[in-house]
Amino acid sequence: MSRIGIFGGTFDPVHVGHLAAAVWVRDALELDRVELVVANEPWQKLDRPQLSPAQDRLAMVEAAVDGIDGVVASSAEVDRGGLTYTVDTLESYRAGDSDGSLFLILGSDAAGGLDTWHRYEEVAELAEVVVVDRPGAVGQRPPVAHRVVDCPLLDLSSTQVREWADAGRPLDGLVPAAALAYCRQKGLYG
Ligand code: ATP
Ligand code: MG
Repeated sequence: MSRIGIFGGTFDPVHVGHLAAAVWVRDALELDRVELVVANEPWQKLDRPQLSPAQDRLAMVEAAVDGIDGVVASSAEVDRGGLTYTVDTLESYRAGDSDGSLFLILGSDAAGGLDTWHRYEEVAELAEVVVVDRPGAVGQRPPVAHRVVDCPLLDLSSTQVREWADAGRPLDGLVPAAALAYCRQKGLYG
């Protein structure tokens, strides 16, 4: 029976905080793999006009996970198109593999806001909710059954990375090299 971790996000851009969380949860829960599911149009971020194109965010995640055991990029939401709701994604995984176990991985900021999500109670029935703490949101927990996985606290966000890029600060070591090469080639950020 497969054990799959679903780690959704905008990944604008992917950074080492995402990768470390994915790898540590994979290891702690002995998952077969963690899928970084790139949101097509995240409903939480519709007010952000400068959101990078989904195909570019996906390409950066694909580049970033290359060579990391048991961590892969998923284009499921980008392929589906339209607004991104996690409940739809979990339902489609369930339809594809009805007896596997699904684990929904959330940083604690996202976990703390889970009750604002579309059909969040169903989300929690479709997958076991797994929380990793994140600086600025340590101890925030969802109002549903969940488990917490210990992970290094990396004080890094895509918002901060974009701000540093705009300010001309170096991003090496914060964004995986292959993803950074892609964003330089495409002229994304800064
Ligand atoms: P933004 O600043 O644009 O919101 P972000 O860094 O929060 O970007 P997202 O794509 O919004 O990244 O987050 C995807 C998932 O990764 C969320 O569950 C979020 O909580 C988690 N996450 C992001 N950064 C970290 C981090 N440094 N440590 C642990 N979890 C993280
Ligand atoms: Mg975020």
